Amino acid sequence: MMTDNVFMKIIQRTIPARIVYEDDLSLAFHDIHPQAPVHVLIIPKKEIRTLDDASKDDQALLGHLLLVAQQLARQLNLDKGYRLVINCKEQGGQTVPHLHVHLLGGRAMTWPPG
Ligand code: 5GP
Repeated sequence: MMTDNVFMKIIQRTIPARIVYEDDLSLAFHDIHPQAPVHVLIIPKKEIRTLDDASKDDQALLGHLLLVAQQLARQLNLDKGYRLVINCKEQGGQTVPHLHVHLLGGRAMTWPPG
């Protein structure tokens, strides 16, 4: 996993991103290397490195991220369905050390994932 937290820089607006949603707790923006016609990342503004680093105190925040994803899926016309992914640490395929939910849609997904 990279050590540099590019998502904190997106929150702080020191690097650009195509932001689609923002509130006090979260930010959502298009992935720079989309893996589907719609590929948006939903992140907490609180710095949490991985899902493993979240605690009971983050329960409402984690639920909030899922409801933001649901709202964005509606907004982006993913009425036929979509997939949410959270990669956790090295073996989970996480590359950016800031918790994020991938919202993928606009095509049929396959299972199992690679
Ligand atoms: P992970 O592999 O950690 O689950 O997902 C990280 C995601 O962040 C990848 O899909 C990658 O394309 C995306 N990403 C990495 N750097 C940037 C960036 O600077 N801007 C945006 N918009 N996405 C990024």
